[in-house]
Amino acid sequence: GPSAPVNMFSEGWLKGVYEEKPVKAVRTRFPPEPNGFLHIGHCKAIAVNFGFAKHYGGVCFLRYDDTNPEKEEEIYFTSILDIVRWLGFEPFQVTHSSDSFDRLYELAEEMIRRDKAYMCYCNKEEINRQRGGPDNRGPRYACEHRTRPTEESLTEFRAMRDGKYKPGEAFLRMKQSLTDLKEGNPQMWDLPAYRIIERDHHKTGGKWRIYPTYDFTHCLCDAFEDISHSLCTTEFRQSRVSYDWLLEQLDMKVPVSEEKGPMQREYGRLNVNGTILSKRRIQMLVQGTTVGDKTIPPAVRDWDDPRLYTLVGLRRRGIPAQAMLQFVEELGVTVGESAIQIARFEASIRKHLERTVPRQMLVLEPIKVIIEDATDEDEIEITVPYDPKGAIPGERKVKVGKEVYIDRNDFREEDSADYFRLAPDKAVGLYNVPFAIRAVSYSKSDDGKAFEIKAVKALNEKPKAFIQWVDVATAVPVTARQYNSLFKSASPNELDWKNGGWADDLNPSSEVIFEGAVIERGVKDLLKSRSLHPSGSSDDLVRFQALRTAYFCADVKDSTEDKIVLNQIVTLREDKSK
Ligand code: ATP
Ligand code: MG
Ligand code: MG
Repeated sequence: GPSAPVNMFSEGWLKGVYEEKPVKAVRTRFPPEPNGFLHIGHCKAIAVNFGFAKHYGGVCFLRYDDTNPEKEEEIYFTSILDIVRWLGFEPFQVTHSSDSFDRLYELAEEMIRRDKAYMCYCNKEEINRQRGGPDNRGPRYACEHRTRPTEESLTEFRAMRDGKYKPGEAFLRMKQSLTDLKEGNPQMWDLPAYRIIERDHHKTGGKWRIYPTYDFTHCLCDAFEDISHSLCTTEFRQSRVSYDWLLEQLDMKVPVSEEKGPMQREYGRLNVNGTILSKRRIQMLVQGTTVGDKTIPPAVRDWDDPRLYTLVGLRRRGIPAQAMLQFVEELGVTVGESAIQIARFEASIRKHLERTVPRQMLVLEPIKVIIEDATDEDEIEITVPYDPKGAIPGERKVKVGKEVYIDRNDFREEDSADYFRLAPDKAVGLYNVPFAIRAVSYSKSDDGKAFEIKAVKALNEKPKAFIQWVDVATAVPVTARQYNSLFKSASPNELDWKNGGWADDLNPSSEVIFEGAVIERGVKDLLKSRSLHPSGSSDDLVRFQALRTAYFCADVKDSTEDKIVLNQIVTLREDKSK
């Protein structure tokens, strides 16, 4: 059932994390690798890190963890900051791990001097053997390099820096507990600290040919930035030991104490079932792929396609930032992973939209109804509240004319007793119009496309149903895009991603486009009062509930002055048939 709203910072797991280290100056960081667009899971990481700092009166850094120049691109940097701001947070400072390359290098030399790191020339296979073989269960042993004089390691480390070796020929290795057979944590088995990557870096250019690893970099950058609470996901649980170990070797932390230095704690990831979050897989959807001599075309238009669960995609689809945060809050934060069904996510979004967006009348597949006995007196302008329940302030003027559009699905050529909308000789109510209408005849073109109904006012009838409609004279043409799941399978992660099998499971109606839809002219007021092309830092999109249809949002990229393009945010109700 729906859980009562809780504040995830002042109760539960995060409160406990604060109380373990109740400092005045809370400092956290959100540390994405700038190697892809953020997805819905990252929203939790942003909410946790920025929210924790905000709640405890502290600050949060946005730190790009840019230690692997092979994977980083400028577009990701821009997009990540944009998304953080969209979610309503402003970093205290934007930093890069690469800002500290000089300092990290100095500390690597210091580790060698303290005999806590050594230059190693073993290859991958040999290292795996040292670490107990393929299942890590065999005996562990040191290589000859581990006991070499520190002076030699220092000279060799500098030589590696200066280009003496090719990638894979040498690396700097931390001297942890590889040979302590009681140490069962693989994170303590002499991890790499520096490796050769012959690539220019987007920040430091050609200066470096060696780059520090995550395990060497992360805890030190946390310490440089004076991070108090370093919050990450549970796959780093075992890394906590090496995190503390490295800081202790460099006197930045005291063993078994959280008094000094940053404290790492781990929370459960947020996973969403029924969609794809892996960067590599989304990339295949965006770019298509080739398998053997088979070319699979792209399945979506771009990384911000509204069918994707990237944060740029969800934003474009029209999910409000506040609703995203509320969703994370509803799930709460513990060490347990949450695997969420899309239906649950959408229910949460729907709940938010229900009490925040105005109503509009949209007709996806319009057919014209001519009200034959309507007179000039019937041509009125009615004032209709944005929300009949009054939760959303404001109202709009709706024009009633002699001709209206209704949806093709609200008319049946064959009437039946259990059907309550428009049919020959049957009456239906039009929302907010003082009279119902009764169909008297209809005509259609041979292809069934052009359709026209003749109707009369049904003044004394109390209709059993009301439908949405749009005045023909003032109708605004729009393109409406409805979205369904991208895959037929409910578990697309289990599809064949290696051999392109996923392409056979694509849902052909993941996007249904209604080119000829119409909406009441009031939509123009909504567009006027808010911008159609907001900056990334704004959540000022035009959203509404289209009565009896779905929630929609004006698309920021594809809408023009002449033609508004709408994206369906969520349906009005959960479709239980799926
Ligand atoms: P992915 O491989 O799914 O893109 P990642 O862990 O490589 O994720 P990073 O850019 O390193 O992505 O993540 C930045 C931060 O976001 C990290 O602290 C990471 O733990 C957190 N994070 C990533 N995915 C999730 C998730 N699904 N739920 C919660 N936090 C996440
Ligand atoms: Mg990562
Ligand atoms: Mg990753």
